Amino acid sequence: MDKPAPHITAVYPGTFDPITNGHIDIIRRASKIFGRIIVVVAEAIHKNTLFSLEDRAKFVKQATSDLNGVEVKTLSNRLLVDFCREVGATVIIRGLRAVSDFEYEFKMSWVNRRLYPGVETVFLVPSEEYAYLASSLVKEIASLGGDVKALVPAAVAKALGGYKAKIREQGTGGDFDQSL
Ligand code: ADP
Repeated sequence: MDKPAPHITAVYPGTFDPITNGHIDIIRRASKIFGRIIVVVAEAIHKNTLFSLEDRAKFVKQATSDLNGVEVKTLSNRLLVDFCREVGATVIIRGLRAVSDFEYEFKMSWVNRRLYPGVETVFLVPSEEYAYLASSLVKEIASLGGDVKALVPAAVAKALGGYKAKIREQGTGGDFDQSL
């Protein structure tokens, strides 16, 4: 592929609590395809996040500052599809890891299409080294004092070091128990 399609605006929504190298891999791949990408950091009504919305967005901005055509926005109390209409986005990017992602992603893409037929969900697959990487896993490892430097940007790894107690208190929202 020579140049990304300049006329297509794509959004990449998520909680990014926190951003991992898996998310960054997806953003890099997407930036080769689409001319404008808006990473949408969602407030997450149903999840207790470790980092504030502002901090999550700040980490995404830092991690993507070298990429052309990538912007970062936050979204609170609004439907993603309404945001897509407002900014003229016609593509929603989602990352697909294992089969376990599939059912949820399939449902979400169907719902978003019902709400706004003008938007198409496009799934991208990360490099295999990130196929099992999830924010919840990173938080679990960090809470037990493990080294997460290879999994997240340096600023995130540093911040996680100061949040060990909070992660343990709150749980990670994932299925992993690295202390087993
Ligand atoms: P959500 O809370 O919506 O699941 P996340 O921030 O966890 O948001 O993830 C946003 C998107 O990035 C989702 O499509 C998710 O499947 C994808 N994603 C997360 N981690 C990875 C990874 N390691 N490789 C590829 N895609 C990923």
